[in-house]
Amino acid sequence: MNDNHEYFMDVALEHARAEIGIGGRPIGSVIVKDGKIVGRGINTVVADKNPSAHAEVEAIRDACSKLRTLDLSGSTLYTTMEPCPACLATAILEAQIKRVVLGGRHARLGRKDLGDYSVESFLAFTKRDDVAVIAGVREAECDQLRSEWLRSLSDKQLRLETLRSLSA
Ligand SMILES: [Zn+2]
Repeated sequence: MNDNHEYFMDVALEHARAEIGIGGRPIGSVIVKDGKIVGRGINTVVADKNPSAHAEVEAIRDACSKLRTLDLSGSTLYTTMEPCPACLATAILEAQIKRVVLGGRHARLGRKDLGDYSVESFLAFTKRDDVAVIAGVREAECDQLRSEWLRSLSDKQLRLETLRSLSA
């Protein structure tokens, strides 16, 4: 079966792109099961003043609510940015998602707040060898979206985001 990773990443990118210019952080995620999108999420941390409202969590909530289950076995998560440790540990693994397709990488952006973290390093640390990671799908587009977003921020917003996570 053709997985069509680029197509589903494009959908996630579309959701992410809609956040530029309205104050959100442009990260989008979709959950795909049996070739169909069953959950969609964007990062609503700023809009909802909710530090845990990451795109991955929102997509998982959406899928669990639509499918009326806690168990998303057999699903694939597509996300424009590498999932953070919280999303990976408490949402993705808890929901039994065993395949993660990602675009952008924290390390490539020079984020300092996550140290040496990567999805793979976390999975190795927790001895999880049952989760497949497919990286680099639409990577350039995901990175470009982040650059566009940074350019769209006011000086004050940029300072706040830089303080939070970027290497300046
Ligand atoms: Zn997260």
